[in-house]
Amino acid sequence: MKKRPPIITLDGPAGSGKSTTARAVARRLGFRHLDSGALYRALTFALLNSGIKEEEWPDLPKEKLDRFHIWLRPAGPRFEVLLGERVLNDELRTPEVTARVSPLSALPAVREWLLEAQRQAGREGGLVADGRDMGTVVFPEAEVKIYLTADLKERAFRRFLERDEREPSVPELDVESEKIRERDERDSNRVVAPLRKAPGAIEVDTSFLSFQAQVEVIIDHVKTLTER
Ligand code: C5P
Repeated sequence: MKKRPPIITLDGPAGSGKSTTARAVARRLGFRHLDSGALYRALTFALLNSGIKEEEWPDLPKEKLDRFHIWLRPAGPRFEVLLGERVLNDELRTPEVTARVSPLSALPAVREWLLEAQRQAGREGGLVADGRDMGTVVFPEAEVKIYLTADLKERAFRRFLERDEREPSVPELDVESEKIRERDERDSNRVVAPLRKAPGAIEVDTSFLSFQAQVEVIIDHVKTLTER
């Protein structure tokens, strides 16, 4: 039987550059990229627009979540995230969504509900998946697992620069760092699928690496681990 193409997972804290790196690695390998955070963001967006009060979110049963048709559609080198027939993009990155996504993602019912769509995306392999639990929970069988880190201030700096298209002042950098620190703490301390380095994952610290260099480091690991 022909072996399916490999799955590569990239997990790590907020702002470590997982999605942009995963996209570039996927492009280089001719694989498809899955941004799993976009699914959690899509549900947050859907709930914010649903009229369901935020206090009720923690108790939502699976049947209520089923009302939202959130799904992944292969689109060239990526998966689009759809809510019904609407393709979601910029609306997933608003401060309102970002502020609420982490508590929502900590709910076991939510994680369970989104699991199958992610596994389906990897069914045929040839996937670079980024998130928090790609190597630990969603694709434990992945051939290559990367844990991407960077210094907190560096991550906050990059986040700010990307979003506001200018460098932050010192107080702005402090505010951004604190937001990221809080989100990481929540993602790392939740009971189900916390942010962890998967067993066997290779840690890549990008604090002092250029973007191109970090992509090369990962491609090198992929080659070493899959071309044996
Ligand atoms: O990667 P991104 O910053 O878009 O993820 C948004 C949030 O979604 C994370 O802070 C985390 O709470 C949640 N998430 C998760 N598991 C994943 C991907 C994202 O819990 N695999």
